[in-house]
Amino acid sequence: MILIINCLLEEKSILKFNEALKYNLGDLHIDYEIIRAVSMDEISDLNKYTHLIISGSAASAKEDRPWNYNLENAIIHFINNKKPILGICYGHQFLVRVLAGVEHVRVAERGEIGFARIDIDDNELFEGIENPVFCVSHYEEVFDLNDDFNIIARNKNCSVHGFQYNNLPIWGTQFHPEYRVEDMMESIKKKQKEDPDFKKYYINELKDEREMLQNKLIFKNFVNSNNICLRPHHLMCIQSYVGKGYSEKFIENMDTVVENLKENPNQIIRIVKGNDHICNYCPHNLHGVKCESDDKVNIMDKKVLEYLNIAPGKYSYSELLNRLKEIRNEEVFKNICRDCEWYTLCY
Ligand code: SF4
Repeated sequence: MILIINCLLEEKSILKFNEALKYNLGDLHIDYEIIRAVSMDEISDLNKYTHLIISGSAASAKEDRPWNYNLENAIIHFINNKKPILGICYGHQFLVRVLAGVEHVRVAERGEIGFARIDIDDNELFEGIENPVFCVSHYEEVFDLNDDFNIIARNKNCSVHGFQYNNLPIWGTQFHPEYRVEDMMESIKKKQKEDPDFKKYYINELKDEREMLQNKLIFKNFVNSNNICLRPHHLMCIQSYVGKGYSEKFIENMDTVVENLKENPNQIIRIVKGNDHICNYCPHNLHGVKCESDDKVNIMDKKVLEYLNIAPGKYSYSELLNRLKEIRNEEVFKNICRDCEWYTLCY
């Protein structure tokens, strides 16, 4: 079940966004629930949701709004549990507020309203999309992000039109993948009447309306991004796992992950930089993204990536296991794992 937080303020925009989500998710055979940001107190259990989408808004991500606390908590829950998040426009900026700080959100150097051609990278969120034109409507933007943010989209007016966070299924898009031509035309007419500076922001790079039909794929790709996340050295830990760990909850969680991988060895998994599904209930897990022993475990992760000759990304688990079998010998094992407190148990 996807949780969609609608942060829009005006009745008409709220309904337009809900309609747009119905159009984008309607044929993906997944349940979803749309909740207004102001009503987030009504959410009784975040565990029942598999994905989170955060909408745009006329509000500013720099402001303190009554829903900030609940929205921040929901984001942290999804990050801790490595469940996919897609933040759109305001949602994209709010994600940066939570992950990097409000000082990374500013008034845009060049705001945009209209249809913009966006330069995209080869990223799973954009699978199947070529040379896209998206609806844009923003006066603010994010900037100066650290290496945890992989910038995956930009245009001449905005250098961060899209990011992926730490190779996790966590994305922000400054542009609006959800809106269709007719949705944007309505907004353009409204802004034309209301905003005396409209011409300053207006952009129209759309040649053919059919160009925008492919944008729907972003939602399909997002829905399909719910893979097991593993930091590289945990590939080694899983092979030697004998049901011991840092706490009862940790063991229970690791049992579930290991069982799942055993039962479905051909599944696609996500190799990530930083904390993964196994870290979820670890007492050394700091805020869902860092480990108390980061210095040590990052070295182990780096060595595993080097031995396997891979980068963070998506792989078939069975293919990685085969590669691991090829390289794993006593010397390699010692080189990677000798500083780990569980070394003697696995050796
Ligand atoms: S010790 Fe660190 S890397 Fe290992 S499971 Fe805990 S949080 Fe994750």
